[in-house]
Amino acid sequence: MSLDPVLSRIDSELPQATGRLLELLRIPSISTDPAYKGKCQTAADWLVADLASIGIEASKRQTPGHPMVVGHVDGPGPHLLFYGHYDVQPVDPLELWDNDPFDPQIEETPAGKVIRGRGSSDDKGQLMTFVEACRAWKAVHGALPCRITFFFEGEEESGSPSLVPFMKENAEELKADIALICDTGLFQSRTPAIITMLRGLLGEQITITGPDKDLHSGMYGGVARNPVRVLTRILGGLHDDSGVVQVPGFYDGVPDLPADIAEQWSALDFDWQRFLGDVGLSVPAGEAGRTPLEMIWSRPTAEINGIWGGYTGDGFKTVLPSRASAKVSFRLVGQQDPHALRDSFRAWVTAQLPEDCTVDFHAHGASPASEMSTTHPAFEAARVALSEEWDTDAAYAGCGGSIPIAGYFKTYLDMDAMLVGWAKDDDQIHSPNEKYDLESFHKGIRSWARILDAVTK
Ligand SMILES: [Zn+2]
Repeated sequence: MSLDPVLSRIDSELPQATGRLLELLRIPSISTDPAYKGKCQTAADWLVADLASIGIEASKRQTPGHPMVVGHVDGPGPHLLFYGHYDVQPVDPLELWDNDPFDPQIEETPAGKVIRGRGSSDDKGQLMTFVEACRAWKAVHGALPCRITFFFEGEEESGSPSLVPFMKENAEELKADIALICDTGLFQSRTPAIITMLRGLLGEQITITGPDKDLHSGMYGGVARNPVRVLTRILGGLHDDSGVVQVPGFYDGVPDLPADIAEQWSALDFDWQRFLGDVGLSVPAGEAGRTPLEMIWSRPTAEINGIWGGYTGDGFKTVLPSRASAKVSFRLVGQQDPHALRDSFRAWVTAQLPEDCTVDFHAHGASPASEMSTTHPAFEAARVALSEEWDTDAAYAGCGGSIPIAGYFKTYLDMDAMLVGWAKDDDQIHSPNEKYDLESFHKGIRSWARILDAVTK
């Protein structure tokens, strides 16, 4: 089946495709706010009907939270599963929006046309790029090129509470050869990237207690143990002067970056000066001897996210506090074991406590890193296809954040996930005035058509 007529169809149908996206964007499917529960149902119904309009048998599947949408279409191998989410983030502060977030508009900007509205980039616009590619393919060839399962979630923006139970219950039905996820962006807003490394996350809260009540620093200062001093001394030793984390065993399971990946990353020509400059910084502050991209994508981190104790209000109070607390998080890579690391961190803190001090720990989330194996031939086929569409070498990239869904596909359905997406850095996802470039939408649809073509050849 030839690709060119599909691409032409996509080009000529762009206004209609955009119109359909605007319809979906008008449904305020905010998953975290119970007031919009009915709207999440409406969005799921809309997707079921839209898939039906291209001959895909789909249904809304209820969960204890918002429904999933699952659709199937038969065809020759390979079997692909496509994942996207139809729920969106809340819109407040509403007054910072230039228009109604759920009355999306096509806007002319100096950088080209954009679709402005909540969910345009995250993730309705991206989800629809795949659906539209399928629609065009079907219209031209009468059938899709392979077997495809469509899997849309409505709770991604509120922690995906139903996702893993649903995957487990429906594993037989959902299992495919490979999962395609469209919820990421272009590297530096211009280079198509297939995300193959996602960092994990471990969170801990520490409270150190010294005296059993707050004391007057005139009466006790000098003789009493100050837990803020104890806490800051310990946390001050979290890294050495070259940025290396000092918790014993921290680097167990941290792999070396493979030479071919290092080479690709350096070819990406990451403009870290601008990346840091955008937030008022100028010098990378990670481990000595690592490139900025390694610091973000392939190295683990330890960060203090918040710290408090004593008097922090207006004015001044000469208090010698009873307690001091901090929140500390770790981004994990490779085979680092979050549970072992939690134990090791706690032991490391406890061992440094002076007399008369006690420590309490409170556990927050723990998820390991996930790394995709790119050995499935679909990866290289997709990389070549993306390079053609965007006229620049597509890259296997890392991602500093954590996208748990990719790991779930591996853990519960034993399939690798290919994460691609067309979002740009300035899309303002989760913020007021979210937008999606019309070019991202258009080229995203074309990209999926090329990927479908490449992986079914
Ligand atoms: Zn998203």
